[in-house]
Amino acid sequence: MTDLTGKTALVTGSTSGIGLACAKALARQGANLVINGFGDADAIEQERLELEKLSGAKALYSGHDLTKAEEIQAMMAEAAEAFGGVDILINNAGMQHVAPIEEFPVEKWDLIIALNLTAAFHTCRLAVPYMKQKGWGRIIQTASAHSLTASPFKSAYVSAKHGIAGLTKTVALEVATSGVTVNCISPGYVWTPLVENQIPDTMKARGMTREQVINDVLLAGQPTKQFTTVEQIAEAALFLCSDAAANITGTNISMDGGWTA
Ligand code: NAD
Repeated sequence: MTDLTGKTALVTGSTSGIGLACAKALARQGANLVINGFGDADAIEQERLELEKLSGAKALYSGHDLTKAEEIQAMMAEAAEAFGGVDILINNAGMQHVAPIEEFPVEKWDLIIALNLTAAFHTCRLAVPYMKQKGWGRIIQTASAHSLTASPFKSAYVSAKHGIAGLTKTVALEVATSGVTVNCISPGYVWTPLVENQIPDTMKARGMTREQVINDVLLAGQPTKQFTTVEQIAEAALFLCSDAAANITGTNISMDGGWTA
């Protein structure tokens, strides 16, 4: 068991899916939490209170829009004001859009690159000084199998995820002697709202039924024929926070049922 008492974890996009599972896992180990993401205000407040019950530590909600540099700066400032700084940074917020390249909406390209890639650049650059000063830190990016391989109709997402894999390696090298590790976790398909929401567009783009999209697109390349679970990803993130993982840095850990094998 990794004791994270006294540490502060910031998980972007933690009002749903993978981020929420990571926030819960980190809270169970005693970390203070900064949660972020969109959603119903009452549901988010409920989540925040539940996290505090799990940890006995504090949980702060910072609902900034991470497609905007100045809002990311504000979120990091709120975390620093509440807890001194961020020891564990999980860059997880992400979005998807499915369309052929010639029809891909320009504003969707800009948003996906901003959220899935540029936001992590900003949080990393703002988090690293505190981690270096403490001599300990963990940066974990929720990348994707799409950081290693491509699928048609996902030009922005695949580009951003390949970018995050490169950012991870670069920052890992820069902070290698500081006690700070930087890694990606790359899931295949995980059953979350992000996946559910892309089914209608994929049905349209490929002329398929819902069942065909699930079996012939989503799970087609996943040899285990299983979705990865949010809890499995959260456990991998916890492991990366442990002392046993202190010499794991710059890696891209696949959790994709064999997809990229
Ligand atoms: P999700 O849709 O359940 O959660 C996304 C989170 O990001 C939510 O909390 C949402 O409110 C937040 N968010 C969206 N736009 C935001 C913005 N502008 N600013 C701040 N927060 C914002 O999705 P998920 O499946 O849990 O995905 C989490 C991460 O995992 C993403 O980076 C995604 O690319 C990656 N991923 C998901 C899968 C999958 O199959 N679900 C597979 C591989 C990688």
